[in-house]
Amino acid sequence: MSATPSYVPHWIAGKPEIPEGTRTAPVYDPALGVVATWVCLAGNAEIEAAVASAKAAFPAWRALSLARRQAILFRFRELLAARTSELAAIITAEHGKVLSDAAGEVARGLEVVDYACGLAEHLKGEFSQGVSTGVDVHSVREPLGVVAIISPFNFPAMVPMWFFPAAIAAGNAVIVKPSEKDPSASLWMAELWQEAGLPDGVFTVLHGDKVAVDGLLEHPDVRAVSFVGSTPIAEYVYRTASANGKRVQALGGAKNHMLVLPDADLDLAADAAVNAGFGSAGERCMAISVVVAVEPVADELVSRIAQRIAGLKVGDGRRACDMGPLITAQHRDKVSGYIDVALADGATVVVDGRGIEVDGASDGFWLGPTLVDHVPTGSAVYTDEIFGPVLSVVRVASYEEGVALINAGRYGNGTAIFTNDGGAARQFQLDVQVGMIGVNVPIPVPVGSFSFGGWKDSLFGDTRAYGAEGFRFFTQQKVVTTRWLDPSHGGINLGFPQNH
Ligand code: NAD
Repeated sequence: MSATPSYVPHWIAGKPEIPEGTRTAPVYDPALGVVATWVCLAGNAEIEAAVASAKAAFPAWRALSLARRQAILFRFRELLAARTSELAAIITAEHGKVLSDAAGEVARGLEVVDYACGLAEHLKGEFSQGVSTGVDVHSVREPLGVVAIISPFNFPAMVPMWFFPAAIAAGNAVIVKPSEKDPSASLWMAELWQEAGLPDGVFTVLHGDKVAVDGLLEHPDVRAVSFVGSTPIAEYVYRTASANGKRVQALGGAKNHMLVLPDADLDLAADAAVNAGFGSAGERCMAISVVVAVEPVADELVSRIAQRIAGLKVGDGRRACDMGPLITAQHRDKVSGYIDVALADGATVVVDGRGIEVDGASDGFWLGPTLVDHVPTGSAVYTDEIFGPVLSVVRVASYEEGVALINAGRYGNGTAIFTNDGGAARQFQLDVQVGMIGVNVPIPVPVGSFSFGGWKDSLFGDTRAYGAEGFRFFTQQKVVTTRWLDPSHGGINLGFPQNH
């Protein structure tokens, strides 16, 4: 779909842009291990052009009736649903996740679009009649203007879709700065928006690295920033955008624990640990990376997880495989380095994913599912976000010890408890210091009508993604107090207005 085969262009003012002499970065096909294309990296001129076209598009978009905006959202929603497989193929080619997983990512993004299609409801204000004699008050929610969305590599379609449906529905003009590792999904969605009838300039794609991010964070015409990525960059984005007077929500990294109580169904728990640990090669912010087994179940649970790993097929996501490659060779090497760290720190490597046989090209960025037991909690394998197919097991003596471990961590994105005891599950919800909790559900990503966000170092800012909080983030409130003239209320009174 893109204008030229060799570069992934920006999308500015409703058309592809490849600036003369642009800096570029390679985009890999991770299953083949080759450079598939090159992405343009924005400099100052492109940042200025992107913001200027968004700024120019904003007044007319904001002024369009809710009904007309809603019709465009519905068209986008229908096109996306009908052409999910096209987008999934783009995601798989650049990210590597298997096609069914890529289609699942699009489906989870569609949920957020569905919710945004109800914009007339979500943007409703409030009205109080007669707050004082002859006085009424109403509130409205208005768009902010130009807003930026900066997204990570692991969900090139879903994460931008956590934000742009509400932002656009509310009347803002959006600039998406996708990950430079898999930039094409955003470009495809830009073309889809145009097909759906969105005016040019309301949806812009600006590719780039730190230069583009800093340009957006510092630009006086960018009013708000939604960021998703690793914790150090999230913290940086939060501080820089705040210092520049912007509204900001910055979602960071994670280390999600799954607590398995002795009464749990161990087959269900083992299935869940494998699905949530190795789906998308562990490159999910809601992946389970630590299984906390409450004794005496650890030996049996580890054995059942290992059995299931033996049945997983790793290979090219375009073939019938369970798990694809990692995003880059560099990331694969970093992740596999943690297996050496595990051995050095005295952990037991139950399944070693290095050197695994794959159904794919020999140069692909492969690392098989890896299971590490008896992981010391002082080891970097336990404390670092690895973001790959390395699942740790930590053994504890009690529920209390397990919860204390989870609460001691720096992240608070997701967690899960596996048990058949309703009372224990209820207590867990009260005790655990984590933003998203699953009860016998390993990846508790909230549906589109709720909001997504973690605690502690997993979210900087006070507003979460999508759902009602998404609409609040992308709007500002006005409150209007009205009294229609009545000659009996005239006269001079310098006192502070009181309601009677
Ligand atoms: P990343 O932090 O490297 O990159 C995220 C974005 O920041 C990209 O657009 C990138 O271009 C930009 N960026 C990178 N370095 C920068 C710098 N020095 N200055 C300014 N901008 C910079 O993250 P990633 O590797 O693309 O994605 C994986 C990370 O994202 C993991 O830590 C994962 O947990 C996290 N993540 C979190 C959530 C969540 O909801 N909390 C969801 C998805 C991913």
